[in-house]
Amino acid sequence: MAQMKFEILTIFPDFFRGPLDYGIVRRAREAGLIEIGIHDLRTFTHDRHRTVDDRPFGGGEGMVLKPEPIFECLESLNIGQRQERIREDAHESVVLLSPQGELFTQSVAQELTSRQRVVLICGRYEGVDERVSEYLADREISIGDFVLSGGELGAAIILDALARLVPGALGNAASSQQESFTANAIGSGARVAGEPPSSTCGSAGLLDYPHYTRPAEFRGMPVPEVLVNGNHDEIRKWRRRCALRKTLHNRPDLLRGAELNKEDRKLLSEIEKEQGKA
Ligand code: SAH
Repeated sequence: MAQMKFEILTIFPDFFRGPLDYGIVRRAREAGLIEIGIHDLRTFTHDRHRTVDDRPFGGGEGMVLKPEPIFECLESLNIGQRQERIREDAHESVVLLSPQGELFTQSVAQELTSRQRVVLICGRYEGVDERVSEYLADREISIGDFVLSGGELGAAIILDALARLVPGALGNAASSQQESFTANAIGSGARVAGEPPSSTCGSAGLLDYPHYTRPAEFRGMPVPEVLVNGNHDEIRKWRRRCALRKTLHNRPDLLRGAELNKEDRKLLSEIEKEQGKA
């Protein structure tokens, strides 16, 4: 059995031909680590026109996705009751994609990987009848503070972020520990003497450090000297400094939650001085 099963509820099932057929997600599917079911909400309608939307009560713009097809589709999947799903040790979660939801972050992704089955309900038009959020879904998730035309791209994003956290999906398990936002990674002080710096610049809540590959010089643009001189301790420090600098510049909000040690704080104050902020 797959370690994680995704069920996507959508009025555009063909949308998912493509986005889920490449790279890590494809390999995880082929290896049977994850399974993906795409469910067409129109299958759960009972009228000749297979109507999935209707006008809003109280007036106003646009159309709203009807509750019946969504409830019926979920019932056909034999998902547990909502009160069971809101428990912390639940095996299932039903997520409604919505700009009004909690923000999707790496820590929400990590939390969701404890579930064996994740249902992703994709809204369209003006949104979904609120009873789906009130009585059916156990959480609403937004993928960012902007409004999309449908939940499908959001569902693909959540699925991608979760799939690569499933054990065995990444070629190198350590790589997901060191990426941007990953809070529980090894901090910069935890290096084992004599070992290469691969596990020593871990994000610990910061953005990732920059990566370079060959050629060492490309169109007059050299890679940073420190990376080719083979001094692992200098490489580690340089990477950590870059991660701190980029986080300070692009996402200063992340610094508040990051695990910074003494060396980090020193580097950070140097960077701030350099930038004339201190
Ligand atoms: N009227 C709603 C927007 C509806 S957009 C509002 O103002 O909040 C239509 C659908 O697209 C939503 O039901 C949701 O499923 C999806 N969607 C749009 N933006 C999204 C976002 N930032 N995150 C997740 N889903 C989103």
